[in-house]
Amino acid sequence: MKILVVGTGLFGSVVARDRAQKGDQITMIDKRNHIAGNIYTEKIEGIQVHKYGAHIFHTQLKEVWDYVHQFADFNRYTNEVIANYKGKIYNLPFNMNTFNTMWGVITPAEAQAKIEEQRQVLNGQRPRNLEEQAISLVGTDIYNTLIKDYTAKQWGRDPKDLPSFIIRRLPVRFTYDNNYFNDPYQGIPIGGYTQIVEKMIDLPNITVQLNTDFLDHKDEYLRDYDKIIYTGMIDQFFDYQFGALEYRSLRFETKVLDTPNFQGNAVVNYTDAETPFTRIIEHKHFEFGAGNKKETVITHEFPASWHKGAEPYYPVNNPTNDSLFKKYRDYGIEHAPQVAFGGRLGLYRYYNMDQVIAAALQFVRNEKNFS
Ligand code: UDP
Repeated sequence: MKILVVGTGLFGSVVARDRAQKGDQITMIDKRNHIAGNIYTEKIEGIQVHKYGAHIFHTQLKEVWDYVHQFADFNRYTNEVIANYKGKIYNLPFNMNTFNTMWGVITPAEAQAKIEEQRQVLNGQRPRNLEEQAISLVGTDIYNTLIKDYTAKQWGRDPKDLPSFIIRRLPVRFTYDNNYFNDPYQGIPIGGYTQIVEKMIDLPNITVQLNTDFLDHKDEYLRDYDKIIYTGMIDQFFDYQFGALEYRSLRFETKVLDTPNFQGNAVVNYTDAETPFTRIIEHKHFEFGAGNKKETVITHEFPASWHKGAEPYYPVNNPTNDSLFKKYRDYGIEHAPQVAFGGRLGLYRYYNMDQVIAAALQFVRNEKNFS
């Protein structure tokens, strides 16, 4: 088969590799000037910089963990985020350290009692949105200090207008454990993420064309290829004919500082409303200071509204958008059967890296997708 893979991120690259190994002829295109999509890392002053925001690999899927280990060794990095609220530091995710700092409680029973008391404002009602879900999980104090304003900044909307699953990404624990994730496998690839994709697609029957926008040559591609794996925005593929899906965008400001250690942690969240950015990443801490003893590289992450032409980082998975997505998906099955959509943008899902890989592996396992 002649297959075109649009986008050189994880979904496209996993599929490209598998089909190349099965003997297909693969062309990969990417509109950017580099491979690897948003997991792209680049060395600046000896430090691996996550150019599109912090990427911490974590998974509960042994198969996925083994899969990525074909392409890199991983260090023992464990994400332990701290939050800065008006100059006071709290541990994330929500755990006994957070509860102790917030209320002075010492035991899990004391923390649970405090949350139970604050949860009463919900009058026993089932949470219907992010705000109610957060209060139900951790109470009003933590909601007001660590969640409300951060979430409003991050998404550009009131937490009452956001789905509750977003806050359930974060663990709530009644132990003194600051690990941001519950997954058994976690780490950062030593030497960065770009090499993972580089090695994945380094096969004789895969060719890569950068600076190439699918939409500039859509008709020719549809004519010339037996199968197209499309990992861009599904609504844009269909020229927004049913309307635009909503996304949230980001802006990154990266600088080199003449100091060895700026903030003492890889990720510091700023959870107040006044600070315009949501977090500062200090990249060297992902690799325990490797690469540069004198300087450091930091990135401020500013949430931004999305408009046509902006980078779509997050799908906004509320019921309206989800049903619009389904309309595009069903239309695609009917009118563009040779095109398969994948990845965060093609499937309009708030996927983590491991979920993208798992979805791609599942996709290639089903031969019907290539008949
Ligand atoms: N969140 C928050 N305060 C924080 C960190 C996260 O309220 O300090 C909320 C916020 O709504 C965010 C969600 O939890 O969108 C998920 O956070 P996560 O860190 O998983 O977001 P990502 O890393 O994918 O941007």
